[in-house]
Amino acid sequence: MEKRRTRLGVMGGTFDPIHHGHLVAASEVASLFQLDEVVFVPTGQPWQKGDRRVSPAEDRYLMTVIATASNPRFSVSRVDIDRDGPTYTIDTLRDLRAERGPDVDLFFITGADALAQILSWHRAEELFQLAHFIGCTRPGHKLEDPGFPDGGVSLVEVPALAISSTDCRERVHAGEPIWYLVPDGVVQYIYKRGLYRDEV
Ligand code: ATP
Ligand code: MG
Repeated sequence: MEKRRTRLGVMGGTFDPIHHGHLVAASEVASLFQLDEVVFVPTGQPWQKGDRRVSPAEDRYLMTVIATASNPRFSVSRVDIDRDGPTYTIDTLRDLRAERGPDVDLFFITGADALAQILSWHRAEELFQLAHFIGCTRPGHKLEDPGFPDGGVSLVEVPALAISSTDCRERVHAGEPIWYLVPDGVVQYIYKRGLYRDEV
């Protein structure tokens, strides 16, 4: 009998910090696409994101580990944080493919907005050979036709919560609570390390 191929979700992000919106999106896509595992891949140390400094990769990595530890189907990969330079999705997918071998199908999960950017930066055909792309739209934010090429992309509406990392950082900076927006262990890690306290 032919062995079933492993279906591996890949959730890339800055995760500064990881929050329940990310976790719900991953869980929902895993269920809809019958994924065996979702690997969260924190980005490498990106110089800047917009005009702010991004927290150290080790902090973002550890928060992602804390947030996903209780789910047997979630894991975290260091491929992007251990590679020098800015993170490009094509490298993430190539590295994971090399690491996991040929019997694995990759499903790259990302926000539909981010997806439109990724596909405009890279040669879409090459990306589509490496993975199927799943763009998550949030309810009430129906995406205008982003001009995705045929095939290779699915759009799903996840019951995403109106949570963003930006809002979490601003709350910590302002002394407002982030309980229940991010997992408890991540709240405690943020306070322990003093993240976002002085700089949003
Ligand atoms: P920031 O506010 O700093 O931009 P973020 O909340 O968008 O952070 P990222 O780490 O940039 O978090 O996001 C990683 C991926 O998760 C992106 O593809 C993003 O579109 C998606 N995402 C972020 N927040 C949500 C959410 N609430 N629901 C579903 N997907 C989300
Ligand atoms: Mg964002």
